[in-house]
Amino acid sequence: MTTKPQRTKILIVGAGPTGLGAAWRLQELQQDTDWLIVDASEKPGGLASSVVDKEGFTWDLGGHVLFSHYDYFDQVLNECMSGEWVEHQREAWVWVRDQFIPYPFQNNIWRLPPPDLVSCLEGLLSVHNKPAMPLRSDSFEDWIYRNFGTGLAHIFFIPYNYKVWAYHPKKVSACWIQERVATVDLSRILKNLVLRKDELGWGPNSVFRFPLKGGTGVIWKRVAEQLPQNRLLMGRALTRVNAKLRQAELSDGTLIEYEYMISCIPLNSLVKMVEGVNLDVTPEKFLYSSTNLIGIGLEGKPPDELKTKCWMYFVEDQFPFYRVTVFSNYSQFNVPKPGEQWSLLCEVSESADKSVDHATLKEDVIAALQEIKIIDDHKIVSTWQTRLEHGYPTPFLGRDQIIEPLNNKLTEHGIFSRGRFGAWKYEVSNQDHSFMQGVEAIDHILFGTEELTYFQPSAVNSGKKRPRRKPLQREAKLRSEK
Ligand SMILES: Cc1cc2nc3c(=O)[nH]c(=O)nc-3n(C[C@H](O)[C@H](O)[C@H](O)COP(=O)(O)OP(=O)(O)OC[C@H]3O[C@@H](n4cnc5c(N)ncnc54)[C@H](O)[C@@H]3O)c2cc1C
Repeated sequence: MTTKPQRTKILIVGAGPTGLGAAWRLQELQQDTDWLIVDASEKPGGLASSVVDKEGFTWDLGGHVLFSHYDYFDQVLNECMSGEWVEHQREAWVWVRDQFIPYPFQNNIWRLPPPDLVSCLEGLLSVHNKPAMPLRSDSFEDWIYRNFGTGLAHIFFIPYNYKVWAYHPKKVSACWIQERVATVDLSRILKNLVLRKDELGWGPNSVFRFPLKGGTGVIWKRVAEQLPQNRLLMGRALTRVNAKLRQAELSDGTLIEYEYMISCIPLNSLVKMVEGVNLDVTPEKFLYSSTNLIGIGLEGKPPDELKTKCWMYFVEDQFPFYRVTVFSNYSQFNVPKPGEQWSLLCEVSESADKSVDHATLKEDVIAALQEIKIIDDHKIVSTWQTRLEHGYPTPFLGRDQIIEPLNNKLTEHGIFSRGRFGAWKYEVSNQDHSFMQGVEAIDHILFGTEELTYFQPSAVNSGKKRPRRKPLQREAKLRSEK
């Protein structure tokens, strides 16, 4: 590193929701703190950005549903989006045994063929009212067997979760579950069985909103537009970090001296760039999965069966995708000719344990959609395909034992690794969590307040929305001058 370095107090690496949260907070506080944000990409939004394909269809990088645990996050989005939303009632379905079953699957097993239903009920009864058994490990597999019994585990939970995570649930920890998987309410299941009643509304994101135009990415574009543009260094990647000297090198050779760095890039990539301190960590231990996305733009209208569905989960092996979103149902403007076209967004996971044949993937996806008549005689007018190397940060067994000491070492040197892959905490890796990790990191640096989302995921996910005090500008200024 020989060029004369630029100086900044806070260097934010990554202009996805986390980095933008940090930048937003700094801008809002209007203090004298000097800050910069750099991103390898030319446009902001990271994994939460959207693209328009050559035929004019809009695609998200995976079906994004906006849900919030924070008033602060809602206020920022309201301010940026000026009411340009479409509201949706979530309708999620599971395709299994040649039929659709409403999600959450376990509450709607009355729809299963009798032998499967009996096996699910036997399993549920065998675990019901049993004293909490000590777990052999804290694996997700054990958690599944313990909560749902063998029938539901074999028919749905094990095969489906292998498809999503691209690792067998025995390699995944149960630490992330909390609000993300509906647990068992046996009386409810039995009631639905007797009354032959569907139940669709469970969970935190039963109602969600989606941008009217531009896909999820428009949110982050608008957030970025409100920031001082001279502080955004786009199209430049972080390549090296001398943690001891607090110096960062970018792909164009720029050197930046910082006091604090908020890094939102994948933690396993960051540790490979860090020099000057011994982090004592093996990046290969960080398990993650990649996500392949295949968008299909179609002429006409969706089949009646899909008209109100948001997304569908697929359990069995013959379907390459774990989820298909009826993306045109999120907004009519996700297609170039609203009312005359519709679209499907398919997600296929991939990892060292689950390979994907990229050469045939698009054809395999289309064939599977045709097999179950989701696409019938519809004319396909557009196909779009991309692959996200970092899709899901796997909550692998032993994750926290690696992350905690690593975070301590990094923060000792002024580096806060935050966000979906920065923190590597799946339980707080959605857009709202990520944005707030950025906000809270700034508050911690400037005011010493606790980073609740990073350190206490269960508290923020507990259901109650978190109000947020806005520190007085004067207070912020005084503290930063200390
Ligand atoms: C398939 C899928 C489905 C999802 N569904 C939902 C959902 O339904 N609801 C929801 O709220 N969230 C969802 N998410 C998560 C959402 O996308 C993330 O919460 C959010 O994007 C995380 O923001 P981030 O800033 O932490 O990371 P990212 O969005 O990954 O941003 C990181 C940024 O760092 C940049 N970068 C990387 N390396 C470098 C480097 N060396 N130098 C400089 N810059 C670099 C990247 O270009 C990127 O802009 C989903 C994600 C995926 C993949």
